[in-house]
Amino acid sequence: MITTIFFDLDDTLLWDKKSIKMAFEATCKEVAELKPDQLEEAVRLEATKLYQSYSTYPFTQMIGINPFEGLWGTFNDQGLDFQKMYHLMPEYRVNAWTSGLKACGINDPGLGRKLADQFITERKKHPFVYSDTFSVLDQLKANYQLLLLTNGSPSLQKTKLTITPEIPKYFNHIVISGEFGRGKPDPAIFEFALNKANVSADQVVMVGDNLMTDILGANRTGIKNIWINHHNQSTNQVKPTYEVTSLTEILPIIKNLS
Ligand SMILES: [Mg+2]
Repeated sequence: MITTIFFDLDDTLLWDKKSIKMAFEATCKEVAELKPDQLEEAVRLEATKLYQSYSTYPFTQMIGINPFEGLWGTFNDQGLDFQKMYHLMPEYRVNAWTSGLKACGINDPGLGRKLADQFITERKKHPFVYSDTFSVLDQLKANYQLLLLTNGSPSLQKTKLTITPEIPKYFNHIVISGEFGRGKPDPAIFEFALNKANVSADQVVMVGDNLMTDILGANRTGIKNIWINHHNQSTNQVKPTYEVTSLTEILPIIKNLS
């Protein structure tokens, strides 16, 4: 009997990838000499390379913080690794934008700094949710306990929830990997969430877009799961219990399980 639903946040309820894309587009448009697409691609590439070169990279992998979150988060969070990020990330942002410009033939660190700042503003300006996020949550809220299980920095995930304040209201519990100390797919954070919701694994369905975190971790913990496969990916190693292409499709599945 299903009583509780665990939801992933980014690219499950919030359309983070689209918000990042819009922030890049708006920021890159500022450089009249370049095609926005060209600069965006260069900055994405340089940011990813740079992010992986830092000593904090293994920590960001374990907690689940991607290079583009590094471009706008403050990382004003508890713990030594977050302290390192707090000091590293301002320089990372400027260097990523400056190197991206450079790769496109513009050597202008001052402009890099300006664009790095603007990207933060633009990301906050463009919070997107999927068109069916609120209707799905509305239909589940009355009959199920809802728990948000998200990977990321506590300060950044809370910022996302502050700029989309309708979302946290639906949830009985919010678990953020950076607060707990380990991220999905580690079974420890799923066990922690089960404890928090005071349920056993067979009472829960996990809903998420990421096979390697949401689905793998739920499988390891014996939690049924629904994979939202936005991009028509094929699955080899990790097998979800159910697979859908949009949030709305989870409703009949959950109904059947209950
Ligand atoms: Mg996700």
